[in-house]
Amino acid sequence: MDQVAFRQLWRRFAELIHENREVLNDLDAAIGDADHGSNMDRGLGKVVEAFNANSEASLHADAKLVGMTLMSTVGGASGALWGSGMLKFSTVLPDAAVVEWSGFIDALDAFVEALSKRGQAVVGDKTMMDVFLPAMTELRDSVDVQEGSEEIVVALAEHAKGWSDATRDLVARRGRAAYLGERSIGHIDPGSVSAALWFQALADTVRD
Ligand code: ADP
Ligand code: MG
Ligand code: MG
Repeated sequence: MDQVAFRQLWRRFAELIHENREVLNDLDAAIGDADHGSNMDRGLGKVVEAFNANSEASLHADAKLVGMTLMSTVGGASGALWGSGMLKFSTVLPDAAVVEWSGFIDALDAFVEALSKRGQAVVGDKTMMDVFLPAMTELRDSVDVQEGSEEIVVALAEHAKGWSDATRDLVARRGRAAYLGERSIGHIDPGSVSAALWFQALADTVRD
């Protein structure tokens, strides 16, 4: 993964979130406070602006820019989680323009671990972790496969969509939706949808 692809990934994610912001708000309206699409769209718009205004020297610097921007602009539970996760991600990326696929997976591992630590959510709690945790297992298993394996990331994006859809049947145990208890059943978790869109952006980037 090089810096060009890394920025492409975030620009693509920003596009996908923008296209889906109303869907995400509607999902959040059912079990939260109807702002997840607006939160993510605002933050990712700022990430694109920050990229346009900065030609950072390295992947580490780019990822730090993403983390700081998300932290200060997304707001809500998702802002704190995505922001702190990406800051952690940046500490694992090298001060270089390119990282091997295995190094990229290590950084994602650090991202997911930071999310787990901060949010305390496990698989089955009906959050974004229902996508990130199994995705990480799948990616770790692929670590020996050559970088840019389109097959792996395209399959992963499909699985991520499935894991997100499966949150429909779960009772929320973290975040605002947890206040609803059993009444959260029957609605897909919005944060799991945006997490799945991130893997879609990764697949689209590798495919290009
Ligand atoms: P808020 O709930 O503060 O309005 P958002 O609507 O932007 O924030 O984000 C809600 C999403 O954040 C949820 O759909 C869920 O996926 C995720 N989330 C909430 N709490 C946690 C947590 N403790 N751990 C992981 N993810 C969480
Ligand atoms: Mg919300
Ligand atoms: Mg909110």
